[in-house]
Amino acid sequence: MRTAPPALSERARCELLLDAANGIAMQASAWRQLIGGNVHAFGVDRVPLPERERQSLRAALEMIATDYKAALRTLKPQVDEAALSSVVLTIDGRILATAMPGAIAYGIWRFLDREDLGRALCHCRYRNCGKFFFEYRANGTRGRPQRLYCLREHGELEDTAAAALRMARRRKEKKA
Ligand SMILES: [Zn+2]
Repeated sequence: MRTAPPALSERARCELLLDAANGIAMQASAWRQLIGGNVHAFGVDRVPLPERERQSLRAALEMIATDYKAALRTLKPQVDEAALSSVVLTIDGRILATAMPGAIAYGIWRFLDREDLGRALCHCRYRNCGKFFFEYRANGTRGRPQRLYCLREHGELEDTAAAALRMARRRKEKKA
Protein backbone atom coordinates (compact mmCIF):
# COMPACT_ATOMS: atom_id res chain seq x y z
CA MET A 1 0.00 0.00 0.00
CA ARG A 2 1.25 3.45 -0.83
CA THR A 3 1.46 5.89 1.97
CA ALA A 4 0.15 9.37 1.48
CA PRO A 5 2.76 12.10 1.00
CA PRO A 6 3.29 14.30 4.06
CA ALA A 7 0.93 17.22 4.23
CA LEU A 8 2.36 20.46 2.95
CA SER A 9 2.11 23.76 4.71
CA GLU A 10 -0.31 26.28 3.26
CA ARG A 11 2.61 28.34 2.09
CA ALA A 12 4.24 25.39 0.32
CA ARG A 13 0.96 24.64 -1.43
CA CYS A 14 0.67 28.22 -2.55
CA GLU A 15 4.25 28.02 -3.84
CA LEU A 16 3.25 25.03 -5.96
CA LEU A 17 0.41 27.06 -7.37
CA LEU A 18 2.86 29.84 -8.21
CA ASP A 19 5.03 27.26 -10.03
CA ALA A 20 2.02 26.32 -12.12
CA ALA A 21 1.31 30.00 -12.84
CA ASN A 22 4.97 30.50 -13.77
CA GLY A 23 4.68 27.75 -16.37
CA ILE A 24 6.45 24.90 -14.60
CA ALA A 25 5.06 21.48 -15.49
CA MET A 26 4.26 19.68 -12.28
CA GLN A 27 4.22 16.02 -11.40
CA ALA A 28 0.96 14.37 -10.56
CA SER A 29 2.20 14.07 -6.98
CA ALA A 30 2.61 17.85 -6.81
CA TRP A 31 -0.89 18.37 -8.14
CA ARG A 32 -2.13 15.95 -5.54
CA GLN A 33 -0.34 17.96 -2.85
CA LEU A 34 -1.83 21.13 -4.21
CA ILE A 35 -5.45 20.19 -4.25
CA GLY A 36 -5.26 17.36 -1.77
CA GLY A 37 -7.17 14.84 -3.76
CA ASN A 38 -7.00 12.58 -6.77
CA VAL A 39 -5.68 13.96 -9.99
CA HIS A 40 -6.83 11.36 -12.48
CA ALA A 41 -8.40 14.12 -14.46
CA PHE A 42 -4.99 15.63 -15.07
CA GLY A 43 -3.30 12.57 -16.60
CA VAL A 44 -0.19 10.84 -15.35
CA ASP A 45 3.18 12.43 -15.76
CA ARG A 46 4.35 16.01 -15.55
CA VAL A 47 1.43 18.21 -16.37
CA PRO A 48 1.70 21.91 -17.03
CA LEU A 49 -1.32 24.04 -16.44
CA PRO A 50 -3.17 24.42 -19.76
CA GLU A 51 -2.49 27.87 -21.21
CA ARG A 52 -6.02 29.20 -20.83
CA GLU A 53 -6.19 28.23 -17.17
CA ARG A 54 -2.68 29.54 -16.64
CA GLN A 55 -3.61 32.95 -18.01
CA SER A 56 -6.73 33.19 -15.86
CA LEU A 57 -4.72 32.12 -12.83
CA ARG A 58 -2.08 34.76 -13.62
CA ALA A 59 -4.75 37.43 -13.98
CA ALA A 60 -6.10 36.55 -10.55
CA LEU A 61 -2.63 36.48 -8.96
CA GLU A 62 -1.86 39.82 -10.57
CA MET A 63 -4.91 41.32 -8.88
CA ILE A 64 -3.92 39.86 -5.52
CA ALA A 65 -0.31 41.06 -5.86
CA THR A 66 -1.43 44.55 -6.87
CA ASP A 67 -4.17 45.20 -4.33
CA TYR A 68 -5.11 42.47 -1.89
CA LYS A 69 -8.20 44.19 -0.50
CA ALA A 70 -9.59 44.97 -3.95
CA ALA A 71 -8.89 41.40 -5.09
CA LEU A 72 -10.75 40.10 -2.08
CA ARG A 73 -13.81 42.13 -3.05
CA THR A 74 -13.74 41.24 -6.74
CA LEU A 75 -12.40 37.72 -6.81
CA LYS A 76 -13.90 36.12 -3.72
CA PRO A 77 -17.47 35.84 -5.05
CA GLN A 78 -16.29 34.44 -8.41
CA VAL A 79 -13.90 32.02 -6.78
CA ASP A 80 -16.48 30.82 -4.28
CA GLU A 81 -18.84 30.02 -7.10
CA ALA A 82 -16.26 28.20 -9.23
CA ALA A 83 -14.98 26.25 -6.26
CA LEU A 84 -18.49 25.29 -5.21
CA SER A 85 -19.31 23.96 -8.65
CA SER A 86 -16.35 21.63 -8.99
CA VAL A 87 -14.63 21.08 -5.68
CA VAL A 88 -15.77 18.38 -3.34
CA LEU A 89 -14.77 18.02 0.27
CA THR A 90 -14.63 14.32 1.08
CA ILE A 91 -15.77 12.87 4.36
CA ASP A 92 -12.16 12.49 5.53
CA GLY A 93 -11.46 16.13 4.82
CA ARG A 94 -9.60 15.80 1.54
CA ILE A 95 -10.23 18.20 -1.28
CA LEU A 96 -11.15 16.73 -4.63
CA ALA A 97 -11.33 18.95 -7.64
CA THR A 98 -13.47 17.43 -10.32
CA ALA A 99 -12.16 19.79 -12.95
CA MET A 100 -9.23 22.08 -13.53
CA PRO A 101 -11.19 25.33 -13.01
CA GLY A 102 -12.18 24.09 -9.58
CA ALA A 103 -8.57 23.26 -8.72
CA ILE A 104 -7.49 26.73 -9.81
CA ALA A 105 -10.34 28.41 -7.99
CA TYR A 106 -9.45 26.51 -4.87
CA GLY A 107 -5.83 27.62 -5.19
CA ILE A 108 -6.84 31.25 -5.56
CA TRP A 109 -9.18 30.88 -2.64
CA ARG A 110 -6.20 29.83 -0.50
CA PHE A 111 -4.48 33.10 -1.29
CA LEU A 112 -7.59 35.10 -0.54
CA ASP A 113 -8.29 33.21 2.62
CA ARG A 114 -4.84 33.72 4.10
CA GLU A 115 -4.17 37.43 4.21
CA ASP A 116 -0.52 36.92 5.20
CA LEU A 117 0.06 34.85 2.06
CA GLY A 118 -2.03 37.10 -0.17
CA ARG A 119 -0.18 40.20 0.94
CA ALA A 120 3.23 38.54 0.53
CA LEU A 121 2.54 37.75 -3.13
CA CYS A 122 4.66 39.70 -5.62
CA HIS A 123 5.02 39.93 -9.38
CA CYS A 124 8.52 40.41 -10.85
CA ARG A 125 8.77 43.74 -12.67
CA TYR A 126 11.51 42.64 -15.03
CA ARG A 127 9.85 42.80 -18.47
CA ASN A 128 11.29 39.46 -19.60
CA CYS A 129 10.40 37.64 -16.40
CA GLY A 130 7.00 38.30 -14.86
CA LYS A 131 7.27 35.47 -12.34
CA PHE A 132 5.06 35.40 -9.28
CA PHE A 133 6.90 34.91 -6.00
CA PHE A 134 6.68 35.52 -2.27
CA GLU A 135 8.46 38.54 -0.87
CA TYR A 136 11.84 37.58 0.55
CA ARG A 137 14.83 38.96 2.36
CA ALA A 138 18.23 38.68 0.74
CA ASN A 139 20.58 36.32 2.58
CA GLY A 140 21.06 37.38 6.14
CA THR A 141 19.69 40.87 5.68
CA ARG A 142 17.11 42.47 7.89
CA GLY A 143 14.83 45.32 7.05
CA ARG A 144 12.36 45.59 4.25
CA PRO A 145 11.72 42.48 2.17
CA GLN A 146 12.33 42.41 -1.57
CA ARG A 147 9.09 42.81 -3.46
CA LEU A 148 9.92 44.19 -6.89
CA TYR A 149 12.10 41.52 -8.48
CA CYS A 150 12.21 37.74 -8.02
CA LEU A 151 16.02 37.89 -8.25
CA ARG A 152 18.35 40.76 -7.52
CA GLU A 153 19.80 40.34 -11.04
CA HIS A 154 16.38 40.97 -12.54
CA GLY A 155 16.43 44.44 -11.02
CA GLU A 156 19.75 45.12 -12.71
CA LEU A 157 18.56 43.67 -16.02
CA GLU A 158 15.41 45.78 -15.89
CA ASP A 159 17.47 48.94 -15.24
CA THR A 160 19.68 48.10 -18.21
CA ALA A 161 16.70 47.38 -20.45
CA ALA A 162 14.96 50.60 -19.42
CA ALA A 163 18.13 52.65 -19.98
CA ALA A 164 18.64 51.12 -23.44
CA LEU A 165 15.05 51.97 -24.34
CA ARG A 166 15.49 55.57 -23.14
CA MET A 167 18.66 55.90 -25.22
CA ALA A 168 16.96 54.52 -28.32
CA ARG A 169 14.05 56.90 -27.85
CA ARG A 170 16.35 59.88 -27.44
CA ARG A 171 18.28 58.94 -30.58
CA LYS A 172 15.04 58.68 -32.49
CA GLU A 173 13.92 62.11 -31.26
CA LYS A 174 17.18 63.72 -32.35
CA LYS A 175 16.80 62.27 -35.83
CA ALA A 176 13.24 63.48 -36.16
ZN1 LIG B 1 12.17 37.92 -12.18
